[in-house]
Amino acid sequence: MRISHCLPKTPFSSPIMSSGSASLMWFRKGLRIHDNPALEYASKGAKFVYPVFVIDPHYMEPDPTAFSPGSSRAGMNRIRFLLESLVDLDLSLKKLGSRLLVFKGEPSEILIRCLQEWDVNKLCFEYDTDPYYQALDMKVKDYASTAGIEVFSPVSHTLFNPADIIQKNGGKPPLTYQSFLKLAGQPLWASSPLPVSLSSLPPVGDVGYFEISEVPTVEELGYKGYGQEELSPFRGGESEALKKLRESISDKEWVANFEKPKGDPSAYLKPATTVLSPYLKFYSSLWQFGCLSSRYFYQCLTDVYQNVKKHTSPPVSLVGQLLWRDFFYTVAFGTPNFDRMKGNRICKQIPWSNDDELLAAWREARTGYPWIDAIMVQLRKWGWMHHLARHCVACFLTRGDMFVHWEKGRDVFERLLIDSDWAINNGNWLWLSCSSFFYQYNRIYSPVSFGKKYDPNGNYIRHFLPVLKDMPKEYIYEPWTAPLTIQTRAKCIIGRDYPAPVVSHDSASKECKRKLGEAYALNQKLNGQVSEDDLKNLRRKFEGEENQESGRRQKQKRLTDWLKDH
Ligand code: FAD
Repeated sequence: MRISHCLPKTPFSSPIMSSGSASLMWFRKGLRIHDNPALEYASKGAKFVYPVFVIDPHYMEPDPTAFSPGSSRAGMNRIRFLLESLVDLDLSLKKLGSRLLVFKGEPSEILIRCLQEWDVNKLCFEYDTDPYYQALDMKVKDYASTAGIEVFSPVSHTLFNPADIIQKNGGKPPLTYQSFLKLAGQPLWASSPLPVSLSSLPPVGDVGYFEISEVPTVEELGYKGYGQEELSPFRGGESEALKKLRESISDKEWVANFEKPKGDPSAYLKPATTVLSPYLKFYSSLWQFGCLSSRYFYQCLTDVYQNVKKHTSPPVSLVGQLLWRDFFYTVAFGTPNFDRMKGNRICKQIPWSNDDELLAAWREARTGYPWIDAIMVQLRKWGWMHHLARHCVACFLTRGDMFVHWEKGRDVFERLLIDSDWAINNGNWLWLSCSSFFYQYNRIYSPVSFGKKYDPNGNYIRHFLPVLKDMPKEYIYEPWTAPLTIQTRAKCIIGRDYPAPVVSHDSASKECKRKLGEAYALNQKLNGQVSEDDLKNLRRKFEGEENQESGRRQKQKRLTDWLKDH
């Protein structure tokens, strides 16, 4: 099977004239039939609808230099999830008398080519706030307007239109959840039921010389020998999303009493939250699924609320979680350079370290702290972890223990999460690193006691780190403290079968707090106008202090050794 490429097999002579109106439905996010206003509008009064999805090879081709199997931008789990979502969309379209036309190439080139060749008079696609899509849309819209093609691009990926909220707030995004809630109010569309199904769609018109094929498999994309690793238990597609949604909302008590952050982050057999994020996920540059409409999810939740005596409220309720999503979308849309520290006016300027060894230990689950490492294995294998588990590892890498730049951790999450979402991921990394939104840097998650509170026996660790499966529960969170006889019996010698801790939590967390204190003071003194040189000077100061400290420790150790020998 081949995927069609940017150019048709033979040059076109003239556009294929359809004898009625034709729409091009560009699926880029919102890979679903339910609550899809762009698709609905495309089919209204149209004789033909061309449902198109463009795979950009630049982001899909295998990248052997990446730190995990996958392309330059996404790990295998997300690639597989996207292909599953496309297969499911194609099946649903086929049931409605249509099909998905999959292309491979640079999206704007392909789109313009299709518009030129298919005598299309309506172009429909879901609006996207991502800077990448804004530029791409501009190109396609420019062409459409010169060609007299109507463009319909509704906002349907969030509960509210981020631009409206920003406008209500005088042109600036609200920076707290509470102020966001006040501005947002109730969504206007929520008063009437959303369209959740279509009975049929207009057929696909003549595709002319374009070579169109089915959704490719991972092997057809060039991924050979993939499949040795444990596969993520989450399957892509709208059908799976709706099934999972139905399962979640069928337990009305659970929905009504949902209270985050009360769930158990170590529950992996039956997670404490909905695990709908991969289906809601809209984008991380080019990786969009949108198999589940957040508006439909919201409406289902409010239906449940109407049928119970009492229920929890934002920020802790399930509706509250969806509002967190909208909050981050709004701030991300209205904040230039939201995804970096430099030039980001809402981000504290902190001289993070660029220690690649510590970063690699964290990324590869070699920190020596089983709770942290098990979460990182779950990330690599499943592409999903509980919210509090994400808190723990993000805190550990940045302000808690390693003092590594949050952008580096964000990149790892962006690649490996199947729900990786540009606005939400960056927003949460800004939060967890105390760079924005949340500033209590003295509150640090313990890599030992936090997990133990939920899972004293360490079942989660035993599952994701089988090397520790026989470690007695007394030592499972701190295996380096186990006597050698116990390590031998557990067939896990620390330093050989499983690493010793790469940092000492007690001293590392103290150091991190001290450094953050100094960085915060600098930001305050300079009113946020911290220059590159200011950061360099502070970093140099930290490095000087570290060198002095390690010299002091070496001296102390030499003295202790000498005393032992004499
Ligand atoms: P539920 O608790 O069932 O919530 C329902 C939905 O609400 C979620 O699917 C999600 O869309 C939304 N939601 C829940 N929590 C948040 C939150 N804190 N911020 C914004 N929206 C939220 N979530 C992503 O979807 N993509 C990411 O790339 C992402 N990166 C994160 C990075 C870090 C460092 C942290 C701490 C959190 C991140 N989250 C991200 C937020 C959160 O952890 C996940 O949305 C949640 O765990 C997904 O599981 P669920 O669908 O079962 O959530």
